[in-house]
Amino acid sequence: VGDRADFDTETESVCPFCGVGCKVSLKVKDNKVKYVEGINGPANEGRLCVKGRFGFDYIHHPHRLTKPLIRRDDAPAKGLNVDPGNLMTHFREATWEEAMDVAAKGLVKLRDQDPKSVAGFGSAKCTNEEAYLFQKFIRQGFKHNNVDHCTRLCHASSVAALIENVGSGAVTATFNQIENSDVAIIIGANPIENHPVAATYFKQFTKRGGKLIVMDPRGVGMRRYADEMLQFRPGADVSMLNAIMNVIVEEELYDSQYIHRWTENWEAEKEHLKAFTPEAMSEICGISPEQLRRVARIFAGAEAGMIFWGMGVSQHIHGTDNSRCLISLALMTGNVGKPGAGLHPLRGQNNVQGASDAGLIPMFLPDYQSVMDDGIRKSFTDVWGSGDFSNEKGLTVTEIVDQVYAGNIKGMYIQGENPAMSDPDADHAREAFAKLDLMVVQDIFLTETANFADVILPASTLYEKNGTVSNTNRQVQRVRPAVTPPGEAREDWKITVELAQRIGLPWAYNDVSEVFAEMKLNMKSLDNITWERLETETITYPSLHETDPGQAIVFGDGFPRAEGRAKFTPASVIPPDEAPDAEFPMIMTTGRQLEHWHTGSMTRRSLVLDAVEPEANCSLHPKTLRALGVEPGEMVRLSTRRGAIEIMARADRAIAEDMVFVPFAYVEAAANILTNPAIDPYGKIPEFKFSAVRVEKAKGQ
Ligand code: SF4
Repeated sequence: VGDRADFDTETESVCPFCGVGCKVSLKVKDNKVKYVEGINGPANEGRLCVKGRFGFDYIHHPHRLTKPLIRRDDAPAKGLNVDPGNLMTHFREATWEEAMDVAAKGLVKLRDQDPKSVAGFGSAKCTNEEAYLFQKFIRQGFKHNNVDHCTRLCHASSVAALIENVGSGAVTATFNQIENSDVAIIIGANPIENHPVAATYFKQFTKRGGKLIVMDPRGVGMRRYADEMLQFRPGADVSMLNAIMNVIVEEELYDSQYIHRWTENWEAEKEHLKAFTPEAMSEICGISPEQLRRVARIFAGAEAGMIFWGMGVSQHIHGTDNSRCLISLALMTGNVGKPGAGLHPLRGQNNVQGASDAGLIPMFLPDYQSVMDDGIRKSFTDVWGSGDFSNEKGLTVTEIVDQVYAGNIKGMYIQGENPAMSDPDADHAREAFAKLDLMVVQDIFLTETANFADVILPASTLYEKNGTVSNTNRQVQRVRPAVTPPGEAREDWKITVELAQRIGLPWAYNDVSEVFAEMKLNMKSLDNITWERLETETITYPSLHETDPGQAIVFGDGFPRAEGRAKFTPASVIPPDEAPDAEFPMIMTTGRQLEHWHTGSMTRRSLVLDAVEPEANCSLHPKTLRALGVEPGEMVRLSTRRGAIEIMARADRAIAEDMVFVPFAYVEAAANILTNPAIDPYGKIPEFKFSAVRVEKAKGQ
């Protein structure tokens, strides 16, 4: 960066990557971000990981979309076939006027035929205000709830279980509360790579003597800090957790007083757990009865314990049951609502919490208010000044793709999501998108999804826009524009507002703060949080009064459920959707890496991050590689019932011998071509974490 003192402006904002929500200062020269520093936000206290510190240069990448584009009449058939460096083979540049006109008229034409023929995917990378406007666009403009976003692919099952059993879909305590814990469980999460700044707090916790229990089928990095590492069989979460709770019941280690005062359905849970003895579950989950007993005693014996989980828990057809077990474990040990205790699903995207809170989900309006409640819908349509919309829950991400494939949904508006890479069974999703009559994509790059678009609207990065985001801790923070968008690109909220006006909605916002003000009218979670306060403060919701910085811990005095009680929901064992067999004998699991973010559209265009991790790779145990006759660095072929990819193999002793781990950021070896689209019946989340796979040496090696 040369002379670090040589910059024109510095702007405070929030890192655009993970749900930790690190506050940053952007040093800008000549409308270019020169470098980024961590500043003193409550979630990061000055710290940043490699993505936050070095992964900003994608915003200046030559592939940025700078003008609206319209698919050419003579373009080749729709497919994943556009060169991102040469878009003009498939698209032509258009004015905003023309592109908006084509998009709006196309959407209105489909709406006139059948409003349900249009669906929308919003974005967890956009601001709260943009998420709110996007769901309003579909609900008010098309009178139904077929609007969703990538929460469906990450923590939908966790949210379903939390709403069911504690009455709220957000964390009960901030991750920083671990400084008051005696014990913590991290299960199905890899925070060293995926929430690196949160991981620094977890490491500090162990240094001061806190007991750390790590549970994961992969030997994730936090195992180095763990007192107990439970590397359990993939998909055996419920067996393992029920066995731990069986010990707590049998040895009467539970907190009777807490259970009596604050919970319901305890007797049913107790009865249910009887069958799950450590001896009976040991072989299923691959953990010895002794260790299951030891872990039960450590967790139940502590004064205050926290449970953190990630997508290793949620991305299963039994993801909701996995979360139900974690909730039951916290409740029976009295570990909710006090310092150092709580339930914390580590949220993935920078604003997946906020986008969900803002109603970007098909079954809930903002603040998780049911679309099926007539009074609630009326409270929104009163504010919106419009008529009623459907009282039916809308379709989720994967259900929408299936309806596109079936020809029932013919038009989509997609803002900042890349389902052609992120959906399970990606070839199926891509085939579906090729069938659409109209796809309007609003994004910063020509993503894999935008390959299928009819109209492309150039949008803004987080560092080019104004608004608020909410992190995994329920902390609401302001983002601010440090640089102006390139060319004719615009802030996302402005694009949605203009499109809404063009399809006939009476929207009039002059400033994004007016959207925030409208959100507050029907979102009690934003009570006492004002735009003015957010100028200088980070505020954790709920904020109890106008100077309250917010509540790091909630539910100390009851739960937002009937009689203020949380609920035990017993969970039975549901095996993974497809079992390994002679044809596909191994287990594939997918996830992220430290340097690459989700579908790679941003980080693979970041010089430093892409230089560190430039090539698609998968991880296999060295013994497995030897058995296959493959050297580390050589190519393997991975095949499932959905398709096959060839990818470079790495040796990793921490992975089980019958498993392969595949990051999903690489289009040239897209993991989601292989993944199983079977979904959890409650959260409707796909089983990304378990596919039966065959691994072979690639031909020509
Ligand atoms: Fe950004 Fe997350 Fe890294 Fe913080 S931990 S700098 S929010 S990617």
